[in-house]
Amino acid sequence: MADVLVTGGSGYIAGWCTRALLDAGHSVRVTVRDLAREPRIRATLEPGADVRVVRADLGSDEGWADAVAGCDAVLHVASPTLTTVPRDDDEMVRPAVDGTLRVLRAARAAGVRRVVMTSAIGAIAYGHEPRDTPFTERDWTNVDAGVGPYQKSKTLAERAAWEFAGGPGRGLELATVNPTGVLGPVLGPDFSPSLGVISRMLDGSMPALLKFASGYVDVRDVAALHVLAMTAPAAAGERFIATAGHSLWQRDIAAVLRERLGERAAKVPTREMPLWAARGLARVNPQMGSLRMLLGRNLDATSAKAERLLGWKTRPIEDTIAETAESLLALR
Ligand code: NAP
Repeated sequence: MADVLVTGGSGYIAGWCTRALLDAGHSVRVTVRDLAREPRIRATLEPGADVRVVRADLGSDEGWADAVAGCDAVLHVASPTLTTVPRDDDEMVRPAVDGTLRVLRAARAAGVRRVVMTSAIGAIAYGHEPRDTPFTERDWTNVDAGVGPYQKSKTLAERAAWEFAGGPGRGLELATVNPTGVLGPVLGPDFSPSLGVISRMLDGSMPALLKFASGYVDVRDVAALHVLAMTAPAAAGERFIATAGHSLWQRDIAAVLRERLGERAAKVPTREMPLWAARGLARVNPQMGSLRMLLGRNLDATSAKAERLLGWKTRPIEDTIAETAESLLALR
């Protein structure tokens, strides 16, 4: 089987995508922006795993042509995530948009068959009026409605990708996977900011639960959907929301942790912060700024399309929540 390139090989979702590709018999290449990350990546894989680590940064053209040469497909997973609050939107938007176009241009020039881009529910469900129906792949985030820099970066990067695929990149197949909040076992001490909700509930650093609901999905199911989107003929030209069942309020997550972990969930908050207090805090606390638009809202979304077109299935999210907690506790 021809090689598959995974961008951002040091990341949480990319790590599980790499595993899923190896399990499916592919040779894998991964990009990192710092080759010093290679030992950490190898430590998460079987000894002798068929993985080559190459250097490429989303902010530079250097390295991308070599990275994609001879590959049949690319999983473009790398993008700035909310590890710190950016000083201005461009800090996240530029690498996301320009980096995506760099990967797509290199892939097109090298004759890659298909690129699967990891987009996000952030490119779908933000900046809309409240509604009673779940978000679908037909929805797009309204970046002019004051959305946060992360949602803006994902929306503009995905839009740029579709414009490229429909214009100068014609002939290169594109599919996107748009996960909701990704949870699941960690592969090591480096894990995505999306697991912060569980780690903060467990270690007592979350003083009260916030009142909002959103979808969650297991990282292993997200990786499986990337592989399906890469191989299934029907996936070309399509977006796929990746979410397990219906949305959960933070109080639902806390209840699962208490039920499954017993005493070990002793620090999980039980109290919900009143909306007025949470809104006030979000105005002054930059860490909470990205949650401002979510407060009081239920951002439910559906994966019916991936289930129907690709036969994708998810594990119960309650099991994922418990396994996330177990793996975070094991790191201590
Ligand atoms: P993560 O662990 O923080 O991974 C992000 C990856 O992107 C890292 O490998 C990082 O490399 C790389 N990256 C960031 N900026 C880069 C740059 N300028 N040049 C090259 N690489 C860069 O987060 P993750 O959750 O796995 O996220 C992976 C993808 O999934 C992202 O596209 C994210 O938007 C998307 N996603 C995540 C979630 C979620 O809940 N986790 C939900 C929806 C979508 P370094 O290690 O060098 O920093």
